[in-house]
Amino acid sequence: METLNDIAALDRFRPRAGEIVLIPTMGALHAGHASLIQHGAKLAEARGGSCVVWIFVNPTQFNDPADYARYPKTLDADLAICKSSGARGVFVPSKDEIYPPGRTVRVPELPRVATQPGLEDARRPGHFAGVCQVVLRFFEIVKPKVAVFGEKDWQQLQVVRAMTRREMPGVEIAPMPTVREPDGLAMSSRNRFLTAEDRVKALAISKALRVAGGEASPKRAEAVMGDVLNEAGISPEYAVVRDAETLEERETESQRALIAAKVGNVRLIDNVAWPVRG
Ligand code: AMP
Repeated sequence: METLNDIAALDRFRPRAGEIVLIPTMGALHAGHASLIQHGAKLAEARGGSCVVWIFVNPTQFNDPADYARYPKTLDADLAICKSSGARGVFVPSKDEIYPPGRTVRVPELPRVATQPGLEDARRPGHFAGVCQVVLRFFEIVKPKVAVFGEKDWQQLQVVRAMTRREMPGVEIAPMPTVREPDGLAMSSRNRFLTAEDRVKALAISKALRVAGGEASPKRAEAVMGDVLNEAGISPEYAVVRDAETLEERETESQRALIAAKVGNVRLIDNVAWPVRG
């Protein structure tokens, strides 16, 4: 595995790489990221290409400067996870390479799903503009055939899909299911900031999603999620059932239950397919 610290190193690697399957991350990797990399490595192998992990904490997608400042940095451990998961390259660029001083890096036109649903878009103003900006920049620099994203960030996945369809239709977006701790908590780089007490409390989020899955209507499911969270002392930012692709509020064939909530001072998000059949 090669660590590529700048675009020049990536360009030297490219002729040996074949088709690239890209895994964009902000580092602080865990088993959820490892599953994306393992999947990427398999896809790359099938194409005779290479899986490349991108590690870059993107300042433009943080609406809270304190969250950016304290975002965990664990590069040595990250490189070990990349290697054991089958990555051939890890691109770790500097901020100045991604956002060259004095140059404007284009923010693409945002798709509706990045501005209309009133979920992450409403709670994190500017977040998806930053995500679309950096993802497009990744794609222009790395020129991947496939990019793998996690379902954990469901609205982000839909935003990236819609943006890529319009801006870079040659890039395939491959989704991967959410990896959870044995007790159900969705893995997240931010979980390490939970106190022991809040770690227990946070379980109410995955529990609420599970319980909601058995309800007969979206309204009932939303009420039940609210109840489970309130019982645990959590007041969610949202706990809703929406169309899975547009995240609009209407009953469709394919729906998703989504929750965002602050537990202590850690903001957590999670989602599942709704309803759970069977
Ligand atoms: P991050 O660096 O954590 O913002 O995320 C990098 C990629 O990993 C995104 O596509 C996330 O959706 C994905 N990801 C984060 N947590 C998980 C998880 N628990 N399971 C699967 N994918 C995840």
